[in-house]
Amino acid sequence: MKSVAFVSSSRFIEHNTGPAHPERPDRIRAIHRAVRLAGLINTPDPFPEFQIDFGPSLIRSDLRCESIEPDPIDERTVLLVHTPSVLEQVKRGSARSAVLDGSDTPTCPASFDIALLSLSSALTAVDYVMASPDRRAFSCARPPGHHAEVMRPMGFCLFNNIAIAARHAQKLYDIERVAIVDFDVHHGNGTQDAFEDDGRVLFISLHQHPSTLYPGTGHEHEVGHDAGRGTTVNIAMNPGAGDDAYDRAMQQRVIPALERFKPQLLLVSAGFDAHTSDPLAHIDLSDEGFSMLTRHLCQAADSLCEGRLASILEGGYHLPALGRCVARHLHELAR
Ligand SMILES: [Zn+2]
Repeated sequence: MKSVAFVSSSRFIEHNTGPAHPERPDRIRAIHRAVRLAGLINTPDPFPEFQIDFGPSLIRSDLRCESIEPDPIDERTVLLVHTPSVLEQVKRGSARSAVLDGSDTPTCPASFDIALLSLSSALTAVDYVMASPDRRAFSCARPPGHHAEVMRPMGFCLFNNIAIAARHAQKLYDIERVAIVDFDVHHGNGTQDAFEDDGRVLFISLHQHPSTLYPGTGHEHEVGHDAGRGTTVNIAMNPGAGDDAYDRAMQQRVIPALERFKPQLLLVSAGFDAHTSDPLAHIDLSDEGFSMLTRHLCQAADSLCEGRLASILEGGYHLPALGRCVARHLHELAR
């Protein structure tokens, strides 16, 4: 059994993206409900009025996670990855509820503070797992981050939480090699952008083939450049791929790449939109598929980096599937 932190805040619902947006506050409410019904968290539900039916397949776990709230952080932490213009764009844009990145990244006056809190949640998860071996953590936060590039917010993402978390770990804990595995159904273009010329961060993304899905990057020939050549690994999955195809990709490509790199910390961009029920993509992972992915990653962390694994929420837009799969993810992290 591992010590696992569930890092979250009820304030993550304050980032208001409007009634029709898939990246909406109810995602946080659904996860908070599911992890409590599953028995993984025993603190009071901050959203008791929220209604949702997860169906009969929500797991029941006899394992417990520790519930932790992130603290506010200094806005300059964003500059570990982003340019000052991104910080200003998000700060000023939020103040006037601007829509960033064309049409799909709306903000509200609270968005700047909540984006910083979402970043803090990721950093808190890293701090928890670096405090001693055999620790894991999950940051249940929004807005997500993996599409945000060094020079621009993008695709529902304001700041790149996981990229900044990797830099934070290198800076604060004097470690060199950080691996990031991104199983969100969309390519983590922002994370790739941050590290494609950096051989000290291995970025592996499994996603629906870019010729069939947003953002259109993440082709297999994108392998990084200069000092980072070979430490970007893109694995493009065909529409309709399911648990077996993902299991093979993990065994044949992800795990061998991690073994070659020998990370000192494993970070996970945990998106749950590759679920067969998800409305935004065409991959067919089952609930059990997310348990399988998590088991592979936990085994890799155990054998390569003293069990240290911090997982950070990205996408996932079918609320019952999102809640059920996060509960399974936490259950596997805690085993
Ligand atoms: Zn996604």
